[in-house]
Amino acid sequence: MTIKLHNTKTRKKDPFDPIDPGNVRMYVCGPTVYDRAHLGNARPVVVFDVLYRLLRHTYGADHVTYVRNFTDVDDKINARAAESGRSIGEITSETTQWFLDDMAALGALEPDHMPRATQYIPQMVAMIEELIGKGHAYEAEGHVLFAVDSWREGYGRLSGRSVDDMIAGARVEVAPYKKNPMDFVLWKPSGADLPGWESPWGRGRPGWHIECSAMAYELLGESFDIHGGGNDLMFPHHENEIAQSCCAHPEGDFARVWLHNEMLQVEGRKMSKSLGNFFTVRDLLEQGVPGEVIRFVFLSTHYRKPMDWTAERARKAESELIGWALQTGEVEAQAEIPSDLIAELSNDLNTHGAITVLRRLSNEGKNQELKAGLNFLGFNLSVDEGSQKAFKRSIAIEESRPKIEQLINMRTKARNDRDFLKADEIRDKLRAAGISLKDDPDGGVTFKRESNFDPSKLEDLE
Ligand code: AMP
Ligand code: ZN
Repeated sequence: MTIKLHNTKTRKKDPFDPIDPGNVRMYVCGPTVYDRAHLGNARPVVVFDVLYRLLRHTYGADHVTYVRNFTDVDDKINARAAESGRSIGEITSETTQWFLDDMAALGALEPDHMPRATQYIPQMVAMIEELIGKGHAYEAEGHVLFAVDSWREGYGRLSGRSVDDMIAGARVEVAPYKKNPMDFVLWKPSGADLPGWESPWGRGRPGWHIECSAMAYELLGESFDIHGGGNDLMFPHHENEIAQSCCAHPEGDFARVWLHNEMLQVEGRKMSKSLGNFFTVRDLLEQGVPGEVIRFVFLSTHYRKPMDWTAERARKAESELIGWALQTGEVEAQAEIPSDLIAELSNDLNTHGAITVLRRLSNEGKNQELKAGLNFLGFNLSVDEGSQKAFKRSIAIEESRPKIEQLINMRTKARNDRDFLKADEIRDKLRAAGISLKDDPDGGVTFKRESNFDPSKLEDLE
C-alpha cells in the first residue's frame, strides 16, 4: 500500500517513494538532556514511533533506519550544572536514562541509533571546515558563523520566508561580528569553566544546529528520506540544518520529506510553568496514569493538529482501553495486521482513523483482529507479563469492582442492622486491601484505591 505523507517542503500530501526501499532512512530531532521530558516532548516521540512501525511493516523491519539524537552539549545544560553543583556528565547521563524510561512507558520503540552530540564533535568540526572552504561560513572573534547571504536561493525555503522577511520578523541576536543579522553560530569559544574541544578556531563548542547535520550525514548519508520534529523547530533549527547540509554536501539533497507535528496544549492552553499546567511524563505516570492511556490520548488527534491534553480525555481513554484489555485478554492476536488499519495510517498517519477501526473491530467482536491492531499501534494490554504496572492496576480495579461493591453493600446492610462491629470489620478489611471508603452526607458510599491497593487481599473477604 502506498504511504502518503504531508511534506512541509512541498506543502502537500505526496506519495512516499523512498530513495532505497532496502534501507528507508528517518531522522528525528531528539531532546536536550537536562531535565525530565515534559508531556509536549513526548508527542513527536509517539508520532514518529507510529511512523517507524508503519515503515517497518511496509518495507520490512530490517529495511528501516531510524535515528534520534540526544543533545548533550547546550548552554541550558551548562546552566543546570552550574546552579546544581553537579557535573555535566552526571546530569546528561541521568536525564538520558530518564528519557528512555519514560518513552518506553509510552510504548515507543527505541530508534536504531541514538547518537549523542558530544560523540560527534570531530564530524562537526569537519563539516564546519567544509563550509568555510566552500565560502558558506566565516570565522570572526573565535566564532564561526554560517553566512546566509552565501545561500540566498535556499535559505528560508522550508518555512517559506525570505531572508529579508526573517530579519524583519525575528528577534535575532545582533552581534558585531555578524555580516548579516541572520547568520547563525556553527562554533563558539568556551572559557575554561565551560565544556570545550580543541578546534582550528581555538577551544570551543558547537552551535546547536550543526550536530543534527553532522550526525545525519554520518549515519544516513547526504540524502535520506524523512526528517521529523515539532513544528516549533521548523525555523530556525530545521532551516539551519538544511543550509548546513546542502551547502557542505551539494551532491545530496539532505531530507526529502519533512514532517512536523503540531504542539500539545493542556486543558486548552499552552503548557507553561507560569500557568501552573506544566507537567512531565513522569508526573503523570506517578499519579497512576498508565503510559498506554497517554499514548491513546496522543493518537486520538492527528499529528498536524494541535492536541489538547485534558484529564477528561485521559479518563475516557482509560475506560475504553480497559474494555479492550478485558475483551482481548485471553485472545491470541491474529498474525495479519487489519488492512483497513494500515490504510488509515498510510494516509498521512491518520491515527484517529486507526482508532476508529479498532472501535469497529471491538463492536463486531473481532477480538483477534482487535488485538493485532492494538499490538501494532504499540498497546500492550495483556494483563500478564510485560504490560505496564499502572495499567495492570487499572484493570485489577475494574475487575474487582463488583467484589468491592458487594462488600460495601454488606457493610451498609450491617450498619442498617446496627451491627457496627461487623460494619467496621468490613471497612478495616477493605482498608487493608488498599480501598478507603468515604461516607457521603446523603447516605451513599464512595471508594478510592490507595497506592497500596492489592486485589488479592479482596479474594478471601466474605
Ligand atoms: P526540545 O528539547 O525543547 O528541543 O524539544 C524536543 C522535542 O519536543 C522537539 O521535537 C520539539 O518540537 C518537541 N516539543 C516541544 N514542546 C512541544 C509541545 N508543547 N508539543 C509538541 N511537541 C513539543
Ligand atoms: Zn535537529
